[in-house]
Amino acid sequence: MRAKLVAGNWKMHGSLSDNAKLLGEVVEGCKTLSKSRGAVCVPFPYLAQTQTLLAGTPMSWGAQNVSQHPKGAYTGEVSAAMLREFGSTYVIVGHSERRVLYGEDSATVALKYRAARDAGLTPILCVGETLEQREAGETERVVDAQLAAVTALVGVQALSAGVIAYEPVWAIGSGKTATPEQAQAVHHHIRRKVAAEDSSVAANLLILYGGSCKAANVAELLGMPDVDGGLVGGASLIGSDFVAICKAADR
Ligand code: PEP
Repeated sequence: MRAKLVAGNWKMHGSLSDNAKLLGEVVEGCKTLSKSRGAVCVPFPYLAQTQTLLAGTPMSWGAQNVSQHPKGAYTGEVSAAMLREFGSTYVIVGHSERRVLYGEDSATVALKYRAARDAGLTPILCVGETLEQREAGETERVVDAQLAAVTALVGVQALSAGVIAYEPVWAIGSGKTATPEQAQAVHHHIRRKVAAEDSSVAANLLILYGGSCKAANVAELLGMPDVDGGLVGGASLIGSDFVAICKAADR
């Protein structure tokens, strides 16, 4: 049985005072969770505050990006070891906003996955197709290629050190959620693909759904056999919504 995980992706939102309020609500609302896990992935400058406010609670935290390099002359970058120093458990790699807006290709995402894994972080690897690709029947090909870039570099067993988030690009921040059946079809495909190489890794692999996931639609999504939790953007910024999503995953 895979314990569900709900991870919030704050994106570039927050302030010291807003975060204190939000994290307070999340800690209070999630203190009775017993079967599932929760986490928030915050902007780098707020890692210290998040560590202070979440240490000793069941909530984990992490970041939204990481350098593929361990250290050196990489102005503006943040290493996996630095994230660890602030108690991070998770880091998102390959979010579609990084792929599209910052030109991160799948080879770079694979290097980031490896850097995170090597530092003892749990990478949350985002994969997903655009609307155009879905309409052209290319969803599986796109997701397979994004996954294959990682397994070619680190091997399929390295997926046991991470989490996959299926995030159809057309559903992110758009208010358009994949139907539970659409999500299940892709999640099942991913698990089957991994199982072809290693059935035990596939059986234990957490595959989260992300894309306009809200309190109102999460129960149906989480009811699908291969949906193991959520990567939640907008709704993770509203304490009561994020708590409701975490509670739905705990049922
Ligand atoms: C995300 O950015 O990872 C995401 C899923 O965003 P939203 O929930 O806002 O669609």
